[in-house]
Amino acid sequence: MKKYSMLSFLTLFFCLSVLITAQTPPSEFLGFDVGADGKLADYSQIQAYFQKLADESSKIKLLTIGESTLKKPMLMAVITSEKNMAKLDTYRGISKQLRDARGLTPGKAGELAREGKVMVLFTCSIHSTEIAASQMSMEFAYKLVTGDTPFDADEVLDKVIVLLAPTINPDGHQMVTEWYRKNVGTKYEGSRMPWLYHHYAGHDDNRDWFMFNLSETKAVTKVLYHDWIPQIHIDEHQMGSTGARLFLPPFMDPPVPTIHPLVWRGIALCGTNMAYDLQTGGYQGVVYGRSFTGWWIGACDDTSWLHNSIGLLSEMASVKIASPIYIDPTELPNSYVEKRIPFPDPWPGGWWRLRDLVNYELTLSMSLVKTAGLHKEDLLLNFYKMCKDGIEKRERGAPFAFVFPKDQRDSPTMLKMLDILLLGGVEIHRAKADFTADGKLYPAGSFVVLMSQPYRPYAQALLEKQKYPDLREEPGDAPIPPYDNAGWTLPLQMGVNGDRVKKSFDAPLEKLEKIPYPVITPPGTSASYIVLDSAQNASYSVVFPLLKENAEIYRSGECIEGTGFTVSAGSFIIKNTPGVQKILPPLLKKRHLTAYELGNVDDIPKTPLKRYRVGLYQSWLSSMDEGWTRYVFDDLGIPYTTLHNKDFKGAKQKKADLRRQFDVIVFADESPEIIKTGKPDPASRYGRYFTEMPPPYEGGIGEDGVKALEEFVASGGILVGLNDAGKLFVKEFKMPARDALEKVDRKQFFCPTSLLNVTVDNKTPIGYGMPGEAVVMFTSSPVFGTRVPSGDWDRKVVASYPREDVLSSGWLLGEEYITRKPALVDFTYKKGHIILVGFRCQHRAQSHGTYKFLLNSLLYPEIN
Ligand SMILES: [Zn+2]
Repeated sequence: MKKYSMLSFLTLFFCLSVLITAQTPPSEFLGFDVGADGKLADYSQIQAYFQKLADESSKIKLLTIGESTLKKPMLMAVITSEKNMAKLDTYRGISKQLRDARGLTPGKAGELAREGKVMVLFTCSIHSTEIAASQMSMEFAYKLVTGDTPFDADEVLDKVIVLLAPTINPDGHQMVTEWYRKNVGTKYEGSRMPWLYHHYAGHDDNRDWFMFNLSETKAVTKVLYHDWIPQIHIDEHQMGSTGARLFLPPFMDPPVPTIHPLVWRGIALCGTNMAYDLQTGGYQGVVYGRSFTGWWIGACDDTSWLHNSIGLLSEMASVKIASPIYIDPTELPNSYVEKRIPFPDPWPGGWWRLRDLVNYELTLSMSLVKTAGLHKEDLLLNFYKMCKDGIEKRERGAPFAFVFPKDQRDSPTMLKMLDILLLGGVEIHRAKADFTADGKLYPAGSFVVLMSQPYRPYAQALLEKQKYPDLREEPGDAPIPPYDNAGWTLPLQMGVNGDRVKKSFDAPLEKLEKIPYPVITPPGTSASYIVLDSAQNASYSVVFPLLKENAEIYRSGECIEGTGFTVSAGSFIIKNTPGVQKILPPLLKKRHLTAYELGNVDDIPKTPLKRYRVGLYQSWLSSMDEGWTRYVFDDLGIPYTTLHNKDFKGAKQKKADLRRQFDVIVFADESPEIIKTGKPDPASRYGRYFTEMPPPYEGGIGEDGVKALEEFVASGGILVGLNDAGKLFVKEFKMPARDALEKVDRKQFFCPTSLLNVTVDNKTPIGYGMPGEAVVMFTSSPVFGTRVPSGDWDRKVVASYPREDVLSSGWLLGEEYITRKPALVDFTYKKGHIILVGFRCQHRAQSHGTYKFLLNSLLYPEIN
């Protein structure tokens, strides 16, 4: 009796505890099945679901890892056994210890690998329209914590710590779900949004992974290389609808040469296991080794490769957001109908739904957790070995270090670059005394990035020049391009002067924990004038707020040599008034900028600056370059007004008078057809995928807009056309120029996003502050050849490609098509100017070295 009552008590207790800890499935919480046709969980629902699951289960913990651009919390769930959950800090510590072989014996590393747990990071839906993974994440988490897994969850979660970020672009997720819901049931169901799905970057939020401009990138980067250091990382995406159902790694050629071979083997191991488990489950249409190359450093998963982590990518065939699509078998391209070794089981066509994507993604995600568990010790030990090789083994021809001399044309920009390197996990030293390396003397205070370090593959790939291999199916074929950039060298993009040092050297070095920004002493009150060097981007940042306060500012027509300083032509001369003395010091401090004092400036040729009113065009087809331009303006504190199509059209009988409202109007890189008509050229690759926009977002600036712009320039305005946008003005205004690459075939000329050398005239306003030789980012760029003008026109070539050796980093085929041709031209038309920049001078907010071309256009000193 007594025994019986004890048992019933235990039974009751057990039932109660089950009741208390019962986990709510996502379908019950959301009121619909995950992946159901036409149904999406928005960000607040996802957040609430994960919170609920974390309240109900001790196997999941919900963390906030940062804040999005529009101030939403960035979430990451940690899922593992209860036992591990109590020791998360210990396991994070082990990951960190294994990364640094210095002071770690192989025996100790083996012990740590046995004791440690493998960490696997899942990042979902960075591209917000690729929304399936964010939905899947809820079911994935639920199944893991409830043990509804194709493996023994207790056993595997004892070895594996799953880090799961349901979306790493929460702002975009919210925008996309709202836009989708608004248009369900209309003919615009599943259509594209008229704006970028990341406030600044749109799709390029996955091109920011070495520059870390975006707060989202920073948050995940801290997880990757500072706080958790996962050995495996998968980023789950979607691609077009009619090819394979799913791409999984291995990737295709070529690889970034500095990446450790064990990374590629690890990728093959995990990718193949995922494909194997999918095939076992009867999932058709999985492909590997196509489309996605190993040559890139700027994407979320790719940057992991360079940090000795197994970086994986999954790309599902898309539906229309959450609406199913039917694909007729005849619509599948031949390359996805034939059986091939990397594609042994073609999908036959038919209906394709969001739930299909969720099922594939659940299967591959589970498979990855299983593989991580199976190889736990190997994965940890190999991570240690790869990092150890980075520290110890120098490959033939590899440099010993990169050195960045203390004195730079633009020191604040160099310090910014070093800050970026630190966030990417790169070790940086500073010399405590003068030293010599490769026969060159460097002063104390110079910065040294030794190649002996755990993340050597990353540091080297980021700091040295790229040489993209010439790959073709057959000789004479068009070359096979990389997935994105061919070249990205960070110091070149940022205009930072540095040396690749081959031979080893000794120097007294101190390791930096943070960047030693200088203490800025503001100029005294006695000087009549203050000078800011035009060679430093930060000077422009300071000038805009000063102009807003109506400070008296000039641009010098020549270099200025003062007491203890020399500054470039175009430097800013500021009258040192009490007003200036009040606002200048915090501005200098914020931008780490040194100002100089001057007495008499009578003998310096100079032109006054006024407060410029800047307009920036934004189409309804979401140009990423426009987003990045906005980012640069916001980052540098430049005031501007966003202009839409209607602003170029005037009201009723009245024409738009742009000149009355603006001094400068900037058009970021966008196709001339889109700007004028709101539609891409139907013959272009992009044209094939174009669908009609809802009425408020139809059309472009139109014929009226073109006319209004012509009048804007004629009456003294400055019109800036970045990259492709310039072609609109060349054609419409019949400018004395033509695109020299207009009819050139890809077999003759090909330059996939690479860094090219240019010669700059830095005595002319648009070239002010630039060095005489610079490096620019060429990406599907036009090359504006000019001719002798007549009538109302004149032109000044500001930058041009050299006679030879045009390529700096990346790949260039057909150099002769652009040698000696202009890269940037300042045209005069009647009273105004049209500036055509034939490259991406503010490329993804990375190319700080050429920002000045844009900034000078905004602060043109001779405006009428
Ligand atoms: Zn994507």
